[in-house]
Order: sequence, then structure tokens, then C-alpha cells
Amino acid sequence: MEDLALTPQKTSSGKNWAEGFSIFKPGEAGARGALRRFLASGLADYEDGRDRPDKDLTSYLSPHLRFGEISPRRILTELDKVVRSTPRLVAPAEKFRKELVWREFNYNILDLQPELHTRNFRDDFSTFPWQSSDKDFRAWARGETGYPLVDAGMKQLWQTGFMHNRVRMVCASFLVKHLLIDWRRGEQWFWDCLLDADPASNPGNWQWVAGCGADAAPYFRVFNPITQADKFDPDDIYRRKFDKPRGTVPYPRPIVDHAFARERALDAYRSRGDGNDDSD
Ligand SMILES: Cc1cc2nc3c(=O)[nH]c(=O)nc-3n(C[C@H](O)[C@H](O)[C@H](O)COP(=O)(O)OP(=O)(O)OC[C@H]3O[C@@H](n4cnc5c(N)ncnc54)[C@H](O)[C@@H]3O)c2cc1C
Repeated sequence: MEDLALTPQKTSSGKNWAEGFSIFKPGEAGARGALRRFLASGLADYEDGRDRPDKDLTSYLSPHLRFGEISPRRILTELDKVVRSTPRLVAPAEKFRKELVWREFNYNILDLQPELHTRNFRDDFSTFPWQSSDKDFRAWARGETGYPLVDAGMKQLWQTGFMHNRVRMVCASFLVKHLLIDWRRGEQWFWDCLLDADPASNPGNWQWVAGCGADAAPYFRVFNPITQADKFDPDDIYRRKFDKPRGTVPYPRPIVDHAFARERALDAYRSRGDGNDDSD
């Protein structure tokens, strides 16, 4: 960690580096509070809003679930009560339930394969031609890739111990597909930094992104970090929040060209026998 010289270790005013973690109030009361807030102000717009890192519409329950401060059953019970009294919430509640089920799914997979964080679920991935550039890994972990959405995500992770789900997918895809770095290095970094770092959901989702998981993203899905930003952070709100404007200093050049990286990733996946369909 120290080698990476990430900032801030202490803020300029000498405050505690971990103060950004305060979006979570640990404990059962904090968990119940997060659930109440979400049911009152996030749920109604959850279906589309859950994909928008510039909006505050998800539940932030993941660290509480991770440490057993609230149970999925309690969440479902409270959800049902709200839906009974407000029928227009049926559809967003269904979407939210489905997300909770992904957590259960990952625990099932972990049960089947306890070494989920070190071993590809699909054994035929063992010959994948990973590259191991420490320089690229460092640029990714520090949020210095030259792609503002990836850089903002990696800084959110470091500063707050959290990262929005849509941005997790983009950042993970960038490491694995644009940089061809083994998903296990990314999983380990998330494990070290996330407040919700979870032995099932973290490796399960990394394996999904890499394409070697039980349920895997198609190999040809290479998230474009520029169009993802335009679509899910159209007003630059999230990027400006975590990757602050640099005054007159120009934005760093991308460490890898998107079109080049996409073709290189497709070649690598095809080299191990993935299909010939490149449509995205
Ligand atoms: C590369 C990568 C790594 C991840 N690592 C973790 C991790 O270590 N711990 C973790 O809890 N989640 C992980 N996730 C899943 C997801 O990003 C978080 O659960 C979500 O962002 C937490 O925010 P929330 O509670 O506001 O989510 P909400 O949208 O409010 O969802 C409610 C709950 O559903 C569950 N959930 C939602 N999406 C997923 C998912 N894709 N997989 C499993 N459960 C899900 C979580 O328990 C979450 O708290 C990861 C996703 C990716 C792409």
C-alpha cells in the first residue's frame, strides 16, 4: 500500500484520512437508518436510478449486510410493508429484490468453490494470456488512467471505501480487458479498500467481469469508459466530485487507446477459444 503513495493519507489540514468513510454509520442502528432512508427516498426511482453514479438512489446497505448488521429477511419484510401501502413501488421493489438475490447467488457459488478469490470458476481460463504491468496496475489503482470515469471511481474507492456499482463494472473491466491484468490483482485491491469487501460478492463479480465466472459477462463486452461516462454521468457530476478539475493542468493522456485495447482484448479472448461473435 505504501509503495503506491496514494493520497490523501492525511488531509492538508491534518485530519484523519478515513473521514471520507463517514457515509456509513456502523452498527444495527446505522443499518436500519440506511434502509429507512432508501425506502423513503431512493426506492421510487431505483429501476433506472441505480445505474447513475451521479445520483444518490441506491441503498448503501452493502457494508451492513457484509457485517451482519441487518439481514436480507429484515430488508424484504420492510420492503413488502412499503409496497403494500404504495402499489406504484411494486416494479422498483422487484428490481431491488433481484439485486439482493445476486448476493445470495454469489454465496451459493462460494459454497461450491471456497477458493473463489484465487481460482477461475471456469477451469478453461487457466491459459489466459494475462500481462503483468506494475506500471499500468499502479496507474489504475491511483486513478491515473487518463479516463475520467475510471479515475473518479478509483478515487472514490480510495477516499470513501465505496464505489458505485456501475463504476465498479467499468473500472474492473478496464483493468481486465483494457490492461489485460489478471482479475485476481483487482479483486485483491478492492478487497483491501472496500468497506463492503465480501468473500462471495467481490470475487464473484470480478470473475463475472473477466468472463471466467459461473455467470459471466460475454467476452466481447468491453465497456467503453467514455460512452459509459456520457450515458451514466451525463452532467459530469460524479467525475467532478471525485476527480476534481485540475485548473490549467491538462488531463493526463489515456495510458492506452480504447480502440487498440478493445481489439487486443478480443484477440486475447479468441486466442483461448472464445466465440467469433464480436457484436457488443
Ligand atoms: C468488480 C465488482 C466488485 C464488487 N465487490 C463487492 C463486494 O465486495 N461486496 C459487495 O457487497 N458487493 C460487491 N459488488 C456488487 C455491488 O457493486 C455492490 O453490492 C453495490 O454497489 C453496493 O451498493 P448498494 O448497497 O447501494 O447497492 P444496492 O443497489 O442498493 O443493492 C442492494 C444490495 O444488493 C446486493 N447487490 C447489488 N448488486 C450486487 C451484485 N452485483 N452482486 C452481489 N450483490 C449485489 C448488495 O448486497 C447490495 O447492498 C461488486 C461489484 C463489482 C462489479
